[in-house]
Amino acid sequence: MSPTVTTAVRDRLRIAIQKSGRLSDPARDLLRAAGLTWRESRDRLFCFGESLAVDLLLVRDDDIPGLIADGVCDIGIVGRNVLLEQSAQTEQTRYVELRALGFGACRLALAVPNEFDWQGTASVAGCRIATSYPGLLAQWLRTHGIDAAIVTLSGSVEIAPRLGQADIICDLVSSGATLTANQLKPVATLLESEAVLAAPPDGFAGARAELADLLLRRIDGVLKIRDSKLLLFQATRSAIPALLEMLSDAETPTVTAVHDSDQLALQALCHGAMTWQRLEDLKRAGAQGLLVLPIERMLA
Ligand code: ATP
Ligand code: MG
Repeated sequence: MSPTVTTAVRDRLRIAIQKSGRLSDPARDLLRAAGLTWRESRDRLFCFGESLAVDLLLVRDDDIPGLIADGVCDIGIVGRNVLLEQSAQTEQTRYVELRALGFGACRLALAVPNEFDWQGTASVAGCRIATSYPGLLAQWLRTHGIDAAIVTLSGSVEIAPRLGQADIICDLVSSGATLTANQLKPVATLLESEAVLAAPPDGFAGARAELADLLLRRIDGVLKIRDSKLLLFQATRSAIPALLEMLSDAETPTVTAVHDSDQLALQALCHGAMTWQRLEDLKRAGAQGLLVLPIERMLA
């Protein structure tokens, strides 16, 4: 990294995200939705923040925990799997997970060849296990009191059994399509993962603390409205208790009188999916003039 980057005024907040890969687009979308804009430099490693004093570092995801630990960046958007692997390898917890972000979902799983006679975790004893997550795997083996050999590979873990490098694998799985294509089946989950907002355990001071608070408030707003809708409808007073029971995912609704009518108008912020089926059920229970409106922004 160039000296100009590392010596940049540290009252600006620095966020590290994956330069290119599964998390890069959703991470950028999230930061944009939180109101950040940035100027991209030609090498695209450092992006100067324009709307707020928040700059971006575009890096490999594996580098993010180290950048946080070294204080080079303040916040990172990275898979929980990467963060916990670094903690497992260093046997130190140098990060806190400020928020789970709801994208990049996957699990770290043990998978065996289809013909493997799986009899539960004891079947792992004596096996050679190929993985890019030796720290987390070693932790899991210790917890289960299992003795097995770890074969650390940086990629293409799924072909290790066919190449004779290992008997089974421990790898990230999302849809399971890669496993199926390699005649493997998942048999145990070591970790449920998704992208998280990671930061040093001690927090920040001064201007950076204020910026981090502001950003977190905005990100909370973005995460909260992701599936939220504003629901408007009218109903008679007697129908309202049953309707409210059907809206258990809604915040307490506002109820107002309708001029010259015995109807009441309700307005409720709902956090679950508002499907056609749900609307039809509400209509049957007495809701009239149902309207579902998207939420543009929310600030608690
Ligand atoms: P980099 O070049 O930044 O090191 P990478 O190849 O290590 O990239 P990606 O494959 O882009 O990383 O995955 C980034 C993260 O996406 C993973 O660490 C994990 O948290 C998440 N992820 C979600 N689904 C999967 C999957 N099926 N396989 C691998 N990672 C997944
Ligand atoms: Mg990586």
